[in-house]
Amino acid sequence: MPIYEFFCDDCQKKFDVLCSMSADLSAISCEYCDGKHVMKKVSGFAVVGLVVFL
Ligand SMILES: [Zn+2]
Repeated sequence: MPIYEFFCDDCQKKFDVLCSMSADLSAISCEYCDGKHVMKKVSGFAVVGLVVFL
């Protein structure tokens, strides 16, 4: 499953969300303040060193 990195505009914190391909990313809320103003960081394929858990 892919890991998405989000940034919360409310509390200025970033957090990772592990979700399935079918997950509704627009329904993601901040894990710190439960805010809805989160932005998905576009890291794309630049994260080559990302550890994949299998
Ligand atoms: Zn927040």
